[in-house]
Amino acid sequence: MERRNYRTNVWVDWCPGCGNFGILTGIYRALEELSLDPDRTVIVSGIGCSSKIPHFVYANGVHTLHGRAIPFATGIKLANPELTVIVHGGDGDLLGIGAGHFVALGRRNLDIVVILHNNGVYGLTKGQASPTLPLGVKTKSLVEPNIQNAFNPIMLALAAGYTFVARSYAFDTNHLKNIIKEAVLHKGAAFIDVLQPCVTFNDVYTADFYRKSVYKLEDDKAWDPYVRKPEEAQEKMLRAMEKALQQGEKIPIGRFYVNPFVSTFEERISQRLKAYPGLNPSNSVIEVQGE
Ligand code: SF4
Repeated sequence: MERRNYRTNVWVDWCPGCGNFGILTGIYRALEELSLDPDRTVIVSGIGCSSKIPHFVYANGVHTLHGRAIPFATGIKLANPELTVIVHGGDGDLLGIGAGHFVALGRRNLDIVVILHNNGVYGLTKGQASPTLPLGVKTKSLVEPNIQNAFNPIMLALAAGYTFVARSYAFDTNHLKNIIKEAVLHKGAAFIDVLQPCVTFNDVYTADFYRKSVYKLEDDKAWDPYVRKPEEAQEKMLRAMEKALQQGEKIPIGRFYVNPFVSTFEERISQRLKAYPGLNPSNSVIEVQGE
């Protein structure tokens, strides 16, 4: 399938220069290279600039409520585990009102990809500080410097239990595409923190800022985020957390932690159903294929 077949004819109304365009390109390219069937792919979003994305991708799409994309995605995945389910959301949506759901998805390790469009502001509502804008930072849309501390999304995802944790940059679409592809193929909860300029409301974290500050973890040949046997998991997690704390002038992008040894929520439910004689898992839509 060629990339243009994942485009819809819906007008993309983001501000010219918005980082969301780079993320949309990354998704188009990943879907194309994975040859994902649009009928078996579901894009789920909440509310925000980035959450318009289901309208722009030729696949199944659900544009849901503010902060509630993950509960919808959870229901979709449990109803049909064979679907590829990808959640998109902004930092206000996923880490503000949706923070509890974000943590629950990692804890359960559902086989869902979460893509965070991280621009530090609530763009759709005129640029208020979001949960990822650091304390003391003043963007042009704030009257005073930000008075709240920020989340570190990578640390939060690692602590919550996501088994694929990575970061990319919206305007490095090749890097982003490769990370999305790997996240989709990973069995378990995958999280991608995508650094994304908001040209209209955030004049601090701009494309120029990111061009100077991001560097790739994979450029360090000694960096190995992959858990290759279960007993390595704790050591790899600690190393990933140490790397995640690097913020400020130099920001790492790439894979932080990949652990394929944790069972998914779908697999655990399938096993639980089999334990009850009164239930016939073969009649259940929750049964996981290949078991
Ligand atoms: Fe993008 Fe910001 Fe415009 Fe929203 S307000 S479309 S995040 S540039």
